[in-house]
Amino acid sequence: MKQIIKKLNSKLIDQISAGEVVDCPESVIKELIDNSIDAKSTIIKIHLKKAGTSEIIVRDNGIGMNDTNIVNCLERFATSKISTQSDLNNIKTLGFRGEALPSISSVSKIIIKSSGNSIQNYSKNKMKILPSNIETGTEITVSNIFYNIPARKKFLKSDNYELRKVINTINKFCIGYPEISFLLTHNNKKLINVQSEPLDSRIVSLLGKDYKKNLLKVDSTKETVSINGYIGNLSTIKKRKGNQFCYINNRYINNNLINITIHSCYKHLIELGEYPFSVLFLTVPTNMFDVNVHPKKLEVKFDNELKIQYLIKSAISTILKNNLLKVTPDFYINKSKGILENESFAFAQSIDSNNVNNNFEERASVLTSEDHRNNDDSNEIDNVWQLHNKYIITEIKSGLVIVDQHVAHERVLYEEAKIALDGEGLNSQKILFPQTLSFETEEFTYLLELLLYLEKIGFEIRKFGERSVIIEGVPSELSLGKEKEIIQDILENYMESKELNSSFIEYMAATYACKAAVKAGESLTQIECLELINKLFNTNHPYYCPHGRPIIVNLTIDELDKRFERH
Ligand code: ADP
Ligand code: MG
Repeated sequence: MKQIIKKLNSKLIDQISAGEVVDCPESVIKELIDNSIDAKSTIIKIHLKKAGTSEIIVRDNGIGMNDTNIVNCLERFATSKISTQSDLNNIKTLGFRGEALPSISSVSKIIIKSSGNSIQNYSKNKMKILPSNIETGTEITVSNIFYNIPARKKFLKSDNYELRKVINTINKFCIGYPEISFLLTHNNKKLINVQSEPLDSRIVSLLGKDYKKNLLKVDSTKETVSINGYIGNLSTIKKRKGNQFCYINNRYINNNLINITIHSCYKHLIELGEYPFSVLFLTVPTNMFDVNVHPKKLEVKFDNELKIQYLIKSAISTILKNNLLKVTPDFYINKSKGILENESFAFAQSIDSNNVNNNFEERASVLTSEDHRNNDDSNEIDNVWQLHNKYIITEIKSGLVIVDQHVAHERVLYEEAKIALDGEGLNSQKILFPQTLSFETEEFTYLLELLLYLEKIGFEIRKFGERSVIIEGVPSELSLGKEKEIIQDILENYMESKELNSSFIEYMAATYACKAAVKAGESLTQIECLELINKLFNTNHPYYCPHGRPIIVNLTIDELDKRFERH
């Protein structure tokens, strides 16, 4: 067959290229918010119906559009943001390609209202221009997205899925622009409502008050690049990605290299598959990178990736070193007295390679903590004290550490429980007088779903009558009398979440650990103290308890010397 090359008509071109820019409600919303921010808005309101698939309204209080612009904004490659070749190398706005509004209007029904006029456009020829009732700013309504491209509409997922994507994107704007107030409603329900505020408050407003005390400020300028924002301490570590926010010259970007670099700064402090929280704003001269790689403008290409990597690493590492090493002390390793070995040394080395520690040889040659656990010669235990039946004090090379016995034990039991829950389960210990516990009818139906899990953490438990269970064994580390409290606690959490997922397993492990751990006020022998400390330093996170409280306080000889004015 003879093939004929023909130029596509402009409507088809628009529809095909629209796919590059808008492929779901989230991408429409992103483009509209980009425009509102470029228009210097301080208040942006987003209203959605059916996750944006039936209607999206974005209303701002920005500079608005005059009569000419409101008509021209629907032309392809028409923009007010750049005009010359050299502007392309110095982009200061989020948009610059003049593609979003024409793309959106080619796949949906759009109404634009701004200070002067209102324009309703269902297709290029049927454009209606009417007077508008808007005094300041702009309001854009996009409805029936992909009404004319059924194939693309079919690719939209469930409303829940599409809405999650939208919320995710709006969160990125909220964090990136804390000075802007944002409102998001879905089917008239408020989902996000944040007022202009400083970045740290915005993080807390958006992600929860747990973040309040756990943010470390980043503020560094080297050469022509500045890096600002916050990173999280170890209490903000999550098992999933998504809490790494990175902006270059105020544009959210998704750059794997940067994420890997941030991650590597925490290397000795977190496990594989764990992700630290970070919000970083990089201010980089526009000639050092290019955002023009893809119409969605989420990716950037750096001229010198290594340099960016180095600058981020040094900014973050200094902060981690100054903050976390206060609680990740430099442990004393003494051949005759037993050892406390700790990764913070490796950590300190890795982030401060210029400062080569002279004791490296000594440290490297001593026993590992594994060896020590096999060595229970009690003569060696002479540098551990229990203070007020609450804290354990021990001497280390740089001074001394004070360990909170309850949270230390909690950390040890938590990690043991997590491993056990993945495998065979925790040991159970028979109790002399089996106990019956009764529950309300609804509670009981949930409890039955939990029996297998409770067995895994060491309960021997069976159904007994209509609404009761009988407990014949408890986790071997648990002291008697705590059974009811722990089962009730786990049950209530399950009734709330109704999910038996990994965060439920972690909750079970944490509840068990908290209830079973030695309490403040319990007297421990020296051997018990030392065993606890050694077990603590064999855990993955000896510095923070599962709830984020610090386990160790470090007091250095330098600090003591200062206080005794010994200089
Ligand atoms: P770009 O943002 O790349 O310039 P768009 O298609 O997104 O392209 O927008 C086209 C033009 O419409 C913009 O350059 C701007 O002048 C104008 N515009 C769009 N949205 C707004 C808004 N919310 N407020 C003021 N002007 C707007
Ligand atoms: Mg735009």
